[in-house]
Amino acid sequence: MSRFWSPIVHTLSPYVAGEQPQISGLVKLNTNESPYGPSPHATAAIAAANGDALRLYPEPTGIHLRKAVAATYWLDAGEVFVGNGSDEVLAHVFQGLLNHELPLLYPDITYSFYPTYCRLYGIKSVLVPLDEGFEIRLEDYRQPCGAIIIANPNAPTGIAKPLDWIEALVAEHPDQVVVIDEAYVDFGAETAIPLVKKYPNLLVVHTLSKSRGLAGLRVGFAVGQRHLIDALERVKDSFNSYPLDRLAQAGAVAAWQDKEWFERHRDMIIATRERLTVALQGLGFEVLPSAANFVFARHPGHPGGELAAALRAKAILVRHFNKPRISDFLRISIGTDAETDKLLTALGEILG
Ligand code: PMP
Repeated sequence: MSRFWSPIVHTLSPYVAGEQPQISGLVKLNTNESPYGPSPHATAAIAAANGDALRLYPEPTGIHLRKAVAATYWLDAGEVFVGNGSDEVLAHVFQGLLNHELPLLYPDITYSFYPTYCRLYGIKSVLVPLDEGFEIRLEDYRQPCGAIIIANPNAPTGIAKPLDWIEALVAEHPDQVVVIDEAYVDFGAETAIPLVKKYPNLLVVHTLSKSRGLAGLRVGFAVGQRHLIDALERVKDSFNSYPLDRLAQAGAVAAWQDKEWFERHRDMIIATRERLTVALQGLGFEVLPSAANFVFARHPGHPGGELAAALRAKAILVRHFNKPRISDFLRISIGTDAETDKLLTALGEILG
């Protein structure tokens, strides 16, 4: 605390990101990155962009990436917004589209950046509890609201809603923006992007951090009709006129276009997740059905915090949330097969 701070700073309790350890040799399964590097086309494009051209400002609208994304879904570049990771895209979404007289609705167990943005921008919100099975229920959102945001699959549960459920939510709230945060959608859920043509109130947010293996490059995007994207552009242009640096633009376009790399590594991650799920069940864990690149699991005899600490002592990092209802769970990112074997061996030893 300092007397030099603006008053709002005293009120903030920022999001605490998962640990990024500075020592090597750890099995790092705590922040849902891809265990595989990005497409070699992406690293080559970044290397090619890394030269004299860096003295020049980047292209200010991210047009090449917007065009590449738009082409995938038969959309126009004006229906795509890009930013430094979906975290930055979401920051603009919260400020530009979710701050209304009536409260924003979102699940009470979800991505914990949402309450942070609400505090930062003074957004009224109502947290809607998940049901006993950790599912989001459509009927719970039938209440007065200014906007809705849902992560699909949800985090940290990993549970996905089918596309007809998402469509029903969007159709039931024609006068509210409904944002679907699809950070993990590629690992087993269906994207709502094809619905944006039909619904002027739908915005879909996506990232290249997970299924494209580019968390370090910080690239995310949002897709929606032009009037929604225009709001995000206005916020962005009032904040930083260069959404993505030159390296990020070059790498992201190349990564996006390497469909073969993307599909192969996505399938590898899904296969490892299925193997890990069965093995954890064999060790006595309850594992929630995951459509993401992580699993959310608890053991009846061992609290999550205790297991996370025991794994850490064996140089394996997983995520534990000290929060009501989920404090007995571990969120385990899907690693390589070798990392998964180490994790399972360590858990076998810990559980005796
Ligand atoms: N949404 C959800 C649900 C997430 O879990 C994350 C990753 N922590 C993000 C968005 C942000 O990802 P990024 O900023 O790397 O695109």
